[in-house]
Amino acid sequence: MFGLMQDRPLMISSIIRHASRHHAQTEVVSKTIDGSIHRTNYAALEIRARRLVRVLQTLGIGRDDRVATLGWNGFRHLELYYGVSGMGAICHTINPRLGPKDIGFIIDDASDRVLFAETSFVALVEAIAPAIADTLRAVVFMCDAADMPQVSLPPGMAGLCYETLMAAADDEYAWPEFDERQAASLCYTSGTTGRPKGVLYSHRSTVLHAMAISAADVFGLRAVDRVLPVVPMFHVNAWGLPYAAPAAGSALIMPGRHLDGASLTQLMNDERVTMSAGVPTIWMGLLNYLRSSGQRLHSVRSLVIGGSACPRLLLDAFDREYGVRVDHAWGMSETSPLGTFNAPGQASAAYQGETLLRHREKQGRGIFGIDMKIVDDAGAALPWDGLAQGNLLVRGAWVASGYFGEAPGSACDADGWFATGDVATIDALGTMEITDRSKDVIKSGGEWISSIALENIAVGHPDVAEAAIVAASHEKWTERPVLVVVARDGCTIEVDSVLALYRDRVPSWWLPDAVIVVDELPHTATGKVHKLTLRMRYRDHLLRAKEISDLR
Ligand code: ADP
Repeated sequence: MFGLMQDRPLMISSIIRHASRHHAQTEVVSKTIDGSIHRTNYAALEIRARRLVRVLQTLGIGRDDRVATLGWNGFRHLELYYGVSGMGAICHTINPRLGPKDIGFIIDDASDRVLFAETSFVALVEAIAPAIADTLRAVVFMCDAADMPQVSLPPGMAGLCYETLMAAADDEYAWPEFDERQAASLCYTSGTTGRPKGVLYSHRSTVLHAMAISAADVFGLRAVDRVLPVVPMFHVNAWGLPYAAPAAGSALIMPGRHLDGASLTQLMNDERVTMSAGVPTIWMGLLNYLRSSGQRLHSVRSLVIGGSACPRLLLDAFDREYGVRVDHAWGMSETSPLGTFNAPGQASAAYQGETLLRHREKQGRGIFGIDMKIVDDAGAALPWDGLAQGNLLVRGAWVASGYFGEAPGSACDADGWFATGDVATIDALGTMEITDRSKDVIKSGGEWISSIALENIAVGHPDVAEAAIVAASHEKWTERPVLVVVARDGCTIEVDSVLALYRDRVPSWWLPDAVIVVDELPHTATGKVHKLTLRMRYRDHLLRAKEISDLR
């Protein structure tokens, strides 16, 4: 017997409709490219999103068509999120930090019909346009007529102005209802492990994820919150905040491209931001700025950190020096992205001092809706004892089942488990800790050494700005860890003092065999250290060093 409850489809448009009816005057504040502040509210934004659908229709966009964006976090990008998905087309957000070749590949792979781009990307658009002239019909610049740039596009590809198109359109449009499993948005993984692959989110997965991340033990969003997504809208849908905030009635404060410590501090204080989320590099920049300027954050209650392991320095410093809680989260493009969140539980709430810090370094419990397990290389489940390290597998209603263009279910096993490519432990409280990505793990004499644990210790050194551990080939142990570090401005790194930090914190056989000081580390388009480049560069470092010492 079925239950007798209404079977309403979970539609992305229902979020903006809800916000416009129940939180009509709640603000969406955007810092524009020129640094000025633009203000609107959910009622006005919903009307503009409907007007945008009319624009899209005149551009020939229909159900299932892909519409690409190269945009910062701002109100027009938000209108695109709702307009494109709301009409049944697919919003394909592209990371502008990828190289032109990768972007060309992605647009071609997705068969994007129209591209919406900020005016700051004119040169990038001109560089990619010739290669995608067959696919793309038009580029719409996200600006007023007065700011419309000069642009040279191939014949047949129109260069249009967002506000001119909007001014000519009406908003006579009613949001349609359709199958909640329809695709809504598309996001390519940054391709650190090969060709970028498209993750295709549905209306259902997006709405469920938005509801799950608002929960009290995740982002804890309320109608009195003012949320600043530092994480870009082109990086896994800004971790779901552009959906979760309007659903909860929280105001959205959009930083545009201004992500340095000084700009963020000013925006957070001027706009009374209560919650924000981003990758560790951003928060390091903010912390350094606060420390050097003597400024404080007046309204922020929580900073969520994810995307890379959160160094203990950040967990500790924001709390102790500024009274701001730092929350650690884990996820990936394929998990929409939120998978785990480290909120206090019945037992861990009593932790203090070192025990508490050590616990908070972990990535947290699976949020409701996400099931997880760790397995050995043969696929056998490993115990949740905090010690056994294994491949992390997840499944849930917002976990990818296949990549764009591939068959449903092709990205997971017969029971629906998706292999994350991360290596993790899970303790008796269910707290998961990422120890590595499977390809970064260092296998020394048959034992695994966690590169993340070693990196976290290195960045705790006062002279170290950034650190990466990579595996270098070794005659006897197969692989040994090598530490590559960048010095903080004006500091000189003493190798012995860095190594001394490890002494009582990790087993002696985990100590890096070499410390290499460099001017900078290579980064991926999402701001993570490009381990693959480093691995190639330093793979033979120890063998070469041995050859030289043998010759002497
Ligand atoms: P890419 O795979 O291109 O880096 P994603 O943004 O999907 O793009 O990255 C997901 C990966 O980032 C995860 O599989 C994990 O390795 C890493 N990651 C995300 N959050 C954390 C975290 N809190 N701690 C450690 N690693 C993390």
